[in-house]
Amino acid sequence: MGSVTLCSVSCKDFSNKVLGSGKEGDRDTLNEKLIHKEKVPVLLNKWDSLQRNQLHFVVDSLHPISVKQQKRNLKDSLRRAFDAHPKHIYLTFDDGPLIGSAAIDSLAKEKNIKVSVFLIGKHANMSKGRKRDLEKYENNPLIACYNHSYTHANNQYSRFYNNAEKAFADFEKNEKDLNLKHKIVRLPGRNIWMYDDVRKIDLKNGSTTADMLHKNGYRIFGWDVEWRLNSITGVPVQPQEATLSHIHNFMNNKSSMVPNNVVFLMHDDMFQTKKGQQELSALIDALKKDGYQFEFMQDYPIKY
Ligand SMILES: [Zn+2]
Repeated sequence: MGSVTLCSVSCKDFSNKVLGSGKEGDRDTLNEKLIHKEKVPVLLNKWDSLQRNQLHFVVDSLHPISVKQQKRNLKDSLRRAFDAHPKHIYLTFDDGPLIGSAAIDSLAKEKNIKVSVFLIGKHANMSKGRKRDLEKYENNPLIACYNHSYTHANNQYSRFYNNAEKAFADFEKNEKDLNLKHKIVRLPGRNIWMYDDVRKIDLKNGSTTADMLHKNGYRIFGWDVEWRLNSITGVPVQPQEATLSHIHNFMNNKSSMVPNNVVFLMHDDMFQTKKGQQELSALIDALKKDGYQFEFMQDYPIKY
């Protein structure tokens, strides 16, 4: 979307110059709009350059600090600079609609937080109850619906991804069936990221499908931190405190995919019991207390 804006503005700019018909004022406003939209993320660019070893450090008699120490100092100061900005968290729930979806819908309203759900069309067509859960999601402005494929690969991931065209068609079917508005997907069984110039693959066998989706305008998102709960008992596999400190570590050490943005993965069926729902409610309260801002995946990443 950014590139479309960029093109329309620069094209207009160009015609102004050639035909001499544009007013200076118009152009200034356009440029301002462009600068506002494409604001350069200074901190992030510097952070990326440091991570990629693209910065040049000098050691001489006036500056007798080792390169290693200079790097460490810069990293610390960048970390502090990021800490001065808001902390963004993306609560993402996969595999819905399932038993548990209704509770997620209610909690989003009760806590007034943005929630992202990656949906499976096959699940929505399983029963009237699941269809109703889907409608709840669709009618809740605090919930954004995204694509997690129609069949969830029938849980046979290698076979699914070995036929990239068929896999791609499965995502397209899901988009049509669920009338999804955003071209945002998460691949079942894979933690793959592909958006802008980012390309991170966990298992090679999903990469052809991901490339095809990306070429066709989809943004693919994995996750930074996952939380598992026993769906029958609602008891967390990792205690809530451990999960919270996991999130804090990613935020404080800037070890998430993009600093200050933590993508947090859960699954709808984890919240079908009262116990599971209480755990989630408590976790959201703790994040709120720590000043986290809840965001939609369509706004990822928020850059500084
Ligand atoms: Zn899934």
